[in-house]
Amino acid sequence: MTLRVLSVASEAVPLVKTGGLADVVGALPAALAPHGVEITTLLPGYPAVMAALGKPRTLHSWPALLGEPARLVAGKIDGHPLLVLDAPAYFARGGGPYADPSGRDWGDNWRRFAAFGRAAADLAGGVVKGRRYDLVHAHDWQAAMTLAYLRFAPVADAPPLPGVMTIHNMAFQGWSGAETFAGLGLPREAWSMHGVEYHGGVGALKAGMEAASAITTVSPSYATEIRDPQFGMGLEGIVVSRGERVHGILNGIDTAQWDPAADTTLAARFTARKLDKRLANKRALEVEFGLDADDGPLFVVVSRLTWQKGMDVLLGVLDHLVGLGGRLALLGSGDAALEAGFHAAAARHPGRVAVRTGYDEALSHRIQAGGDAILIPSRFEPCGLTQLYGLAYGCVPVVARTGGLADTVIDANVAALQAGVATGIQFDGVTPNALTAAISRSTALFRQPELWRQLQRNGMAGDFSWARSGKAYADLYGQLVEEIR
Ligand code: ADP
Repeated sequence: MTLRVLSVASEAVPLVKTGGLADVVGALPAALAPHGVEITTLLPGYPAVMAALGKPRTLHSWPALLGEPARLVAGKIDGHPLLVLDAPAYFARGGGPYADPSGRDWGDNWRRFAAFGRAAADLAGGVVKGRRYDLVHAHDWQAAMTLAYLRFAPVADAPPLPGVMTIHNMAFQGWSGAETFAGLGLPREAWSMHGVEYHGGVGALKAGMEAASAITTVSPSYATEIRDPQFGMGLEGIVVSRGERVHGILNGIDTAQWDPAADTTLAARFTARKLDKRLANKRALEVEFGLDADDGPLFVVVSRLTWQKGMDVLLGVLDHLVGLGGRLALLGSGDAALEAGFHAAAARHPGRVAVRTGYDEALSHRIQAGGDAILIPSRFEPCGLTQLYGLAYGCVPVVARTGGLADTVIDANVAALQAGVATGIQFDGVTPNALTAAISRSTALFRQPELWRQLQRNGMAGDFSWARSGKAYADLYGQLVEEIR
C-alpha cells in the first residue's frame, strides 16, 4: 500500500533555492518513490513558483488565512505532486524568499510562515476532499508551525497524524517576540514551555521539535553534535529530552544532475577511468576566472559567504595559499564584508585569486569539474552538499571535521592512504593554523600525482545517491505510521 506523505518546505529545486534545503526537498519524492511512498510537496507561492505553474487549478480557498486571502493550487514538480499556497499578501514580493531586495529579512516572516503552517495543517487535516495523508514531514523553521497547529489546533475531527521535523540547520530557528503569539490563532495552552514559547517569545523550530513524532537531522554526526550547546544553539535541551526520537539521515545527491560523465555544462565530460579528460575543465575554468594556467593546485569554493562556512578564516590565510603556489577560484554570495574582502584579495593577487559573487548553478558544476580541491572550512555543517559534489566530480574535498563533513570524507592519513580508502583532507578546528596546515597538506599530496589520483578515484567510486537514505526515511515513516495505528 502506498504511504502518502505531505512534505512541507519553503524551498525545493528546481523552483526555488537558497541552499542545500532545496536540493534535499526536491530530491525526496524521487528518492522515496521506489519504497512505496508518494510525496506531495507543499511550497509557498513565491513569484517564481507561481510563474512556473501557469494557470493552475484551485483546490481550496481561505477568505482569511491568519488575516489574508489565500488559495491552494495544484501542479507538478519534476513529475511529482506539488501543491502551492498562493497568498499574494504573504508571498508575492520581490527579493528572496526571506528577505527584501536589499537583503534585510522581512519583518513579518513569522506571520508569513505561520500562515504557511496553518494551511499545511488544514490540508493534512483533510480540508481538500479526496486528499488524505498518512504523515506530515516539515522541513526547518519555516514549515515547523505545521506541527504546532496539528498538535494544538487541528481541523475538527481529523485523525491524528505523525509528524517528522527535519532540521537542515539549527542556526535558523524562526524566533519572534511574545506579541506575535496573538496573531497565530493558537489556543492559550500552546503558550507553554513544551509548546511554542521560547525565551519569552515564539520559537517556530522549537515548537516543531516539541510537537514532532520524530526529529531528524541531515547527518548522524550533526544529530549527536546538537546535544551540545555549541551546536544546539539553545535547543540542545530539547534535543536531549527527545532522546531516541532524534535520528541522523545523511543527505544524498541528485546523481542525474551531478554526473560528470553526462554533465552538458562541462567543457569535457569524464569518468574515474578517464580522469585525464578532466584537465580540459581545469584549463577552461582558469580561462573563465582569468587565472594563470599552471600545474599547481587550483583550490575552489562554492559557498554562502558566512561565518558558518568559515569564510573569514579562509580570507585570512589566502596569502599563504598563494605563497604555496596555489590558486583560488571562488563562487559565493552572502555577507557584504566578506564579498568585499574576497574581491580585495583578488585585486591583490591577480592571476592567483579570482572571485565571482552571485548565484550560478551551471558555474558551480564547472567549478567542481575543473577544481583540484574544494575548500570547506565550516564551523558547523549539518550535512553539506558541496563536498559530495566534489567527491563525485574528482574535486578533492578539504573539510573541517564536523557534522556531515566528518561523516562523508575519509581523511588521507597514513593508515587510510595505505589502505587505499582516503577521499579527502580533514582538519580539526576552524582556525588559521589548522586551515593553513590543511592547505599545505593538500598541496603536498597534490604534488604526488599517483596519490592524488587515488583520492579522486576513491571519491568518485563512492555511492552518494539517495538509495540508502531514501530507504532510511521510508523505514522511519513506516514505523511512525504503525505506531499511531
Ligand atoms: P547550505 O545549505 O548551508 O548553504 P550545502 O552545502 O548543504 O550548504 O548546500 C549548498 C548548495 O548551494 C549546494 O548545492 C551548492 O552547490 C549551492 N551553492 C551555494 N552557493 C552557490 C553559488 N553562489 N552559486 C551556485 N550554487 C551555490
